[in-house]
Amino acid sequence: MFHLDDTIAAIATPPGEGGIGIIRLSGPGAVTIAEKLFRPSQSLDLHKAESHRLYYGHIVADENTLDEVMLAIMRAPHSYTHEDVVEIQGHGSPIIMRTILDELLKHGARPAEPGEFTQRAFLNGRLSLDQSQAVLDVIQAKTQLSAHYALDRLQGKFTQPLHEVRDQLTELLAGIGVGIDYPEYEDDAIPQSELISGLQSSLTTVNQILEHAKDGRLLKEGYAIAIVGRPNVGKSTLLNALLQTNRALVTSVAGTTRDTLEEFVDIQGVPFRLIDTAGLHKSQDEVEQLGMERTQAALGNADLVLVLLDMSQPISEQDQAILQQANSQEHLIVLNKLDLSDLSQVEVISKELELDAEKTISLSAETGKHLEQLKDKLVQMVWGGELSKHEDVFFLDLREKELLRRGQQLLQQAWDTVSASGTLDLVAIEIQDALEVFGELTGESASEAIIERIFAKFCVGK
Ligand code: GDP
Repeated sequence: MFHLDDTIAAIATPPGEGGIGIIRLSGPGAVTIAEKLFRPSQSLDLHKAESHRLYYGHIVADENTLDEVMLAIMRAPHSYTHEDVVEIQGHGSPIIMRTILDELLKHGARPAEPGEFTQRAFLNGRLSLDQSQAVLDVIQAKTQLSAHYALDRLQGKFTQPLHEVRDQLTELLAGIGVGIDYPEYEDDAIPQSELISGLQSSLTTVNQILEHAKDGRLLKEGYAIAIVGRPNVGKSTLLNALLQTNRALVTSVAGTTRDTLEEFVDIQGVPFRLIDTAGLHKSQDEVEQLGMERTQAALGNADLVLVLLDMSQPISEQDQAILQQANSQEHLIVLNKLDLSDLSQVEVISKELELDAEKTISLSAETGKHLEQLKDKLVQMVWGGELSKHEDVFFLDLREKELLRRGQQLLQQAWDTVSASGTLDLVAIEIQDALEVFGELTGESASEAIIERIFAKFCVGK
């Protein structure tokens, strides 16, 4: 059961020291609880204080001044949660924040659960379920592009067309209802042609969303690239070049990258997760064996495999085996150490291995030559470069995609039934089911378990 009748409190700023720290209170008792601790610099009745204004004062408990603060009241319904909200801005000291929070709890507030402020915004109708998820995406956005899309969603890019579809279906259902319930008022019932065009227009909207639906996971978790190749081909060097840091251990002793390393990198706004792997080669060494197992796992989880070959060395059996392994996946072949060879060598190797020019790139990880070309290619390979047309793109998770497909199916069935002059009862059931499905996306008919699961991913204070 969700509770909305009490007042919740939490520190809203990240843990640790900071210039300021903010504590948030939300609920019917927010102002009363704050009033017990806040001593304004000028006489002020907090219950009558203006909404959305900052007031200067001190937090005092048992005659002890705990901090010098600014306090703001956002009165319902004009607040994040649609409830009375009080925000106390104090010094960003973990001790002070904790002490003030403890005092608020002593005076009647309850510690907020993770995501409970946003959950209240949802339960009070300020945000749809998918907009609530977008709040988390905005907070966790790893690149500017991720933030851009998350903000789009927060502003209703996905919710709005879904609400339009729901409104339209509700209207159709009402029209059908007249025909079913009062057959004598035949003239008031919705004409078949109107029913068909209404369903068609809803279907078109859903089809358009699905057509432009992309895997939202990639934008959140990063497009996973496994960098593979035998020892010493330059995997760690390439990883570092892409990261422009020296996090991975670079060494010329074969087999010293013992484990997989994952690093996050922002290339032209696209989030990439780079996985450096221990060399794909047979080894008796236990530690290395573990690295090898992780390599296999990394390959399995990768959206793209970068196979590195060392152009300054002859192609070995090991190289061939790795190439073969990567062949079954989306991959790009990187001919490394261009500075130690030349472009004619690229041709020789390409011919020898029958490489697809579209999927091959030569560069020097050490000098950075052609590195920009690799970056361009990587960005291009993500969703076929479609990211640039971002106004058309929807980033959905698996659950959302599944629900949309189900809704699409139900609308299609309803359309087929109407077109075949089937019974209105059946059409009504199909439309009703579709409404339920779209309601699960926006939250109107999502189960409590789903709602709880979504908000459990949030941090406390959001
Ligand atoms: P890994 O075992 O595949 O991770 O290989 P490393 O990144 O550790 O590189 C092995 C050696 O090759 C190091 O001495 C690097 O400096 C060197 N190396 C890597 N890339 C290049 C390159 O493009 N040109 C040259 N000349 N040396 C490179």
